[in-house]
Amino acid sequence: MRIDVEKFLAQLKGRVLYNEPLSKHTWFGTGGPADVFFIPRDTQDLSFFLKNRPHDMPYYILGGGSNLLVRDGGIRGFVIKLETPSFKKLEYQDGFLKCGAGYLNVLLKKFLIEHELGGLEFLCSIPGTIGGSIKSNAGCFSSCVSDVLISAELMDEHGCIKTFKNKDFEFSYRHCKWPKNHIILSVLFQTRASNAQTIQKLIDEQKAYREQRQPIHEKTAGSTFKNPQGLNAWQLIKEAGCDNLQIGGAKVSEKHANFLINTGTATSHDIETLGLEIVERVKDKTGITLEFEIQIVGQKA
Ligand SMILES: Cc1cc2nc3c(=O)[nH]c(=O)nc-3n(C[C@H](O)[C@H](O)[C@H](O)COP(=O)(O)OP(=O)(O)OC[C@H]3O[C@@H](n4cnc5c(N)ncnc54)[C@H](O)[C@@H]3O)c2cc1C
Repeated sequence: MRIDVEKFLAQLKGRVLYNEPLSKHTWFGTGGPADVFFIPRDTQDLSFFLKNRPHDMPYYILGGGSNLLVRDGGIRGFVIKLETPSFKKLEYQDGFLKCGAGYLNVLLKKFLIEHELGGLEFLCSIPGTIGGSIKSNAGCFSSCVSDVLISAELMDEHGCIKTFKNKDFEFSYRHCKWPKNHIILSVLFQTRASNAQTIQKLIDEQKAYREQRQPIHEKTAGSTFKNPQGLNAWQLIKEAGCDNLQIGGAKVSEKHANFLINTGTATSHDIETLGLEIVERVKDKTGITLEFEIQIVGQKA
């Protein structure tokens, strides 16, 4: 490590890990190392990092790793993860819930039931963090983040905090216009009054639905491809005869054809190759080009 980088890293308050395997941080359980993995202690530490970092080294922000395929060569530069308590706070006031970006969606359940807050039940069954869910406009059961988001606090590449309103993100299906290199710190959600029993019932029903139809206990990153307008990606994948496809340790889930699974021995290369093979076969069979919903990042080995 260069001396100027080492000196800079020594001034940070949070944890710094070298050559951290990103396979430990992704749901697929694959992915090469991050040169430097940084877990900031708090907002001030993150701001200091952004202002003073060596500007020739890029940085990447990781959430729960549930929508990511990190290639086997890993990520050069810095990978940041917001996982200290400072980024996991929840505050409720007058119908609005403020959530730290590092808060895990599934943990919302307890708070929603205790405070009888409706409208966010759908988020409780989506793996990953609040931050990652904003970036991908995550959604299910006919709701998505953009339906409930009022505003978000983001930090820019100079370490300054800005507030973005819902409309600033120009949300669309699993997509939004993201200001380059910005890191989401917290969000403000609109909730509605409900009661504990109704919330509990809805969350349990949604969980049961997923258990039955999706391989949620496997090493996967959820839906691999976006649904083309008016169509289902899983149906197109089946139509193209890809439902039993396997490459190396990566295979198409028997439970849901739009989910790819690491059977235990897959590399990211296996998973990406399988995805690309599906795109080609679906295109040949139906004329439709599937678009990846999972995000593929990093370098090839
Ligand atoms: C079993 C399973 C089921 C799933 N079901 C659904 C579903 O029903 N609906 C759905 O929409 N998704 C689903 N997903 C995909 C995934 O859970 C969501 O996209 C989730 O919101 C990703 O959050 P994450 O924290 O894991 O983000 P990551 O996968 O870590 O990152 C996703 C993107 O967000 C960015 N990011 C993360 N945190 C921040 C931050 N603080 N600031 C700026 N950028 C950030 C990353 O750089 C990356 O570009 C599923 C995944 C699995 C494994």
